[in-house]
Amino acid sequence: MPRPIEALIHPDALAHNLGRARAQAPNARVWAVVKANAYGHGIERAYPGLRGADGFALLDLAEAERLRALDWRGPILLLEGVFEPRDLELCSRLKLWHAVHCEQQIDWLAMHKTHEPHRVFLKLNSGMNRLGFPPAAFRAAYARLQALPQVDEIGLMTHFSDADALRLGQDGIAHQLAAYEAATDGLAGERSIANSAATLRHPGRTAHDWVRAGIMMYGGVPDFPEHDAAHWDLRPAMTLRSQVIGVQDLQPGDTVGYGSTFTAERPMRVGIVACGYADGYPRHAPTGTPVLVDGQRSTTVGRVSMDMLAVDLTALPASGWGSEVTLWGEGPHGSRLPIDEVARAAGTIGYELMCAVAPRVPIRSA
Ligand SMILES: *Cc1c(COP(=O)(O)O)cnc(C)c1O
Repeated sequence: MPRPIEALIHPDALAHNLGRARAQAPNARVWAVVKANAYGHGIERAYPGLRGADGFALLDLAEAERLRALDWRGPILLLEGVFEPRDLELCSRLKLWHAVHCEQQIDWLAMHKTHEPHRVFLKLNSGMNRLGFPPAAFRAAYARLQALPQVDEIGLMTHFSDADALRLGQDGIAHQLAAYEAATDGLAGERSIANSAATLRHPGRTAHDWVRAGIMMYGGVPDFPEHDAAHWDLRPAMTLRSQVIGVQDLQPGDTVGYGSTFTAERPMRVGIVACGYADGYPRHAPTGTPVLVDGQRSTTVGRVSMDMLAVDLTALPASGWGSEVTLWGEGPHGSRLPIDEVARAAGTIGYELMCAVAPRVPIRSA
């Protein structure tokens, strides 16, 4: 028998969350962002739940090929554009739309031989200072693209750094929105500026023609803990679950795990769960990180090791060897543990936990 750990993907939850993006931005089209192998869910496994999207946005050309292999005929957008000139051949062949964020990418387009011109999204650096043309260079880049026979329609895009929070006492988008509006004023083209956080928090000002919804598709909350999944009506698209494979009775003074970082102060019962950091569970999750045992809330105890972690069973007398343990997602009897809570306890974000589920964990659709 394989180790009892597994990840379950919930197509209904993906479809529900896609519907939430539509409800937030009813006049926009929705790119389902499926970069990083659909945030760790697997493109092929996420596809049935997300196929109602208007397009898919991602970074890797190989992932775009996998979507076309699933027979997706609609738009696919490469969010970072191409990485070398010959990538443009694949864009022509697979009809990929691509971001253009730097002069080199325009130079390559100018030399590219294609029968059909490409759809591109010209990216503005409105203040995040990651990718994109600075505002002062934006119109010249637009004009260069417009003059190229290789280019069909030009869309306009930018990306927010703080759509999930306040920044210097203002909402986190005002400064970038102002830069974006000034740089793009009067330019023709479809617009796409909203990530999940903007789609949830500021749809009126950011939805425009296309939203780019990533984390919310998977039921992760970009502005946790200010808001949680229940607030935004998002459902977990992934459950990570395993079982108790050992039980230990502790006396006061006994310790648990490497480094003996946890010492029992009273008699306790702990369950040893077949899940560790080699499965993608965060090693930095401290004692007290939430977990469900047979659908009931409990907490981890001691350090997470490579293949195991310990949970407190003291208050759960009916649970023990063989009990189902939900590390995050949907538990038995309608119970649920949001990935955001686990991430927060471990000092990270739900995005990272989803993406980090290890290849050794079997994944299947629920
Ligand atoms: C990842 C990404 C998104 C989606 O972000 P979420 O916070 O997951 O919604 C949108 N746009 C770009 C350019 C991205 O790289």
